[in-house]
Amino acid sequence: MDRRKFVKSSIAALAAAELGSIDLLAKNPKKKEIRLSGSDWSCEHITPGPSDLKMRFLGTGAAGWKSPTSGHRRNSSVLLDDKILIDFTLSAQDMLPEGIRPKIIFYTHSHRDHFQPIEALKAGVRKVYLNETILPLAESTFAQASWESGIPVPEFVPMKYGQKVTEEGIRFTALPANHATGDLNENAQIYLIEKDFNDEGIARIRVVYATDTGGIMGRASRMACMDRHVAGIGITGLVMESTMGMDHDEDFRIFNHSSAKLVQRTADVLLDTGRLILPEGQPVYLTHMAKSLNPSQEEMDRTLPWPLRAAYDGLEVVFR
Ligand SMILES: [Zn+2]
Repeated sequence: MDRRKFVKSSIAALAAAELGSIDLLAKNPKKKEIRLSGSDWSCEHITPGPSDLKMRFLGTGAAGWKSPTSGHRRNSSVLLDDKILIDFTLSAQDMLPEGIRPKIIFYTHSHRDHFQPIEALKAGVRKVYLNETILPLAESTFAQASWESGIPVPEFVPMKYGQKVTEEGIRFTALPANHATGDLNENAQIYLIEKDFNDEGIARIRVVYATDTGGIMGRASRMACMDRHVAGIGITGLVMESTMGMDHDEDFRIFNHSSAKLVQRTADVLLDTGRLILPEGQPVYLTHMAKSLNPSQEEMDRTLPWPLRAAYDGLEVVFR
């Protein structure tokens, strides 16, 4: 698509979204009261086109889920287009589709519920993207894992905030996260994931994957054009952590994690400012849910306000 057409269609999409939200508000003064059940989301478990982005949730839990009982959530991790991982642990191993050996992994940070070198090697990973501040740790822990497993050490690609890299037609931008680890100099990162570019290099699909982070930091919002202060066309999808669920805003994890309410407020602001254009039938996904602070999937399916939707392990979403 040439730039004029793209800009035109973006404006049309924006206008449609604005009209849609006005319409929605007119018909439903209490926008937040709208409930949609799981079957209303038409982007789930469908066949992707070649230029669409498939995201399979391998895990949707925060640390703290122990035995695989009913309603169990594995450590948060996603698989993109069957080729690229974001984070990966032993707990999510059984959620990799049969015969899929992703060679590339992007890490968010070094917490054990996201970062397990030996499991990445066993899954087939040969290239590791991570923030430059955890390169020394990654090099030593992967060397140990390599020695234990007999699998050679992978290639490391350290990233800085704002840096963009492209793999398998998907562009990743490292965005700052609000999340501390034991090493207070570690820079945890979340990602803007883009696919299907026009001649100007503007992507049709622009999804932010935000876990672990307490809210979206100002710098991240600007790098992803989610902030109205900066020029740009915003995003078309949001996957954000809800460690604290709904009605747990006062939890002590507030400095490092988000609640469902915070995701809702973030989504509302983005929608109201036209910086999140949700394709029809596509919600905002919650992931990284703590066992003690989130109800069952069934209850969330019933009670979460639009546009929120709790992801679950094994869910496949097609962003288009
Ligand atoms: Zn963490």
